[in-house]
Amino acid sequence: MQTEYKARSQQQDYGSDPIAVRDTAHYQREYIQDFVGKWDQLISWEARAKSEGNFFIDILKEHGARKILDVATGTGFHSIRLREAGFEVVSADGSPEMLSRAFENGRDHGLILRTVQADWRWLNRDIHGKFDAVICLGNSFTHLFSERDRRKALAEFYAALRHDGLLILDQRNYDGILDSGFSSKHIYYYCGENVKAEPEHVDEGLARFRYEFPDKSVFHLNMYPLRKDYTRKLMQDVGFQRIKTYGDFQETYHQDDPDFFIHVAEKR
Ligand code: SAM
Repeated sequence: MQTEYKARSQQQDYGSDPIAVRDTAHYQREYIQDFVGKWDQLISWEARAKSEGNFFIDILKEHGARKILDVATGTGFHSIRLREAGFEVVSADGSPEMLSRAFENGRDHGLILRTVQADWRWLNRDIHGKFDAVICLGNSFTHLFSERDRRKALAEFYAALRHDGLLILDQRNYDGILDSGFSSKHIYYYCGENVKAEPEHVDEGLARFRYEFPDKSVFHLNMYPLRKDYTRKLMQDVGFQRIKTYGDFQETYHQDDPDFFIHVAEKR
């Protein structure tokens, strides 16, 4: 199945007015092989695993979850960690390039990932069965540009869960960026000085980030700047009963401090 995935253009294309690109389907053209390959090379999985610790594994175990649906598999980091920790995982993503890379990464870890190409908006058309938990990690939900798409995706995640299932979804702390403007304080370095990420344009409807690699190559991502309470409200609206939000893996945090929020939403 993997060999059917076709390579896409090696250049990102935002046209003549990149700020105008606010389209849910555009993720398909943003994660080109060059970008993804560099990212995987430079952000060490060991460093990532160390910074997360067992946060997700512990939450999943506490809730007795065994069967997990990773809806934003990307290059496979969480799917592989969870498989190694003994969970049963279905690895979904809307991008065939990402799934192809995840499959290879899985093989490098001695695993055959169960990959399924599925866009969140029509998730249950391609994913069958019910799961104990759905994970949507690595600031992925930010790729949805309309409220309708966000509600649809959350409703699809909800429907893929068993009656007592759990959704774990993370997002960058955009409140800080939106409220205090973007300045040099919002330059993020991943893995030491390896990848420099900074917001290039921010308004209430778009956060356009610029990623620079040590070889001076530059890529961009156009994302929707989700406010924390807005995401929580949407989750409540689709029916999640209890939502707990962590800041950088901690239960208590100062609103402006964390880089990431992690929402853990319970269906029951
Ligand atoms: N979770 C991975 C990680 O943490 O390394 C990958 C995160 S990557 C930032 C976001 C992923 O979400 C990409 O692989 C992209 O293809 C996927 N994605 C974005 N929008 C999607 C959609 N509407 N349906 C399915 N997948 C989507």
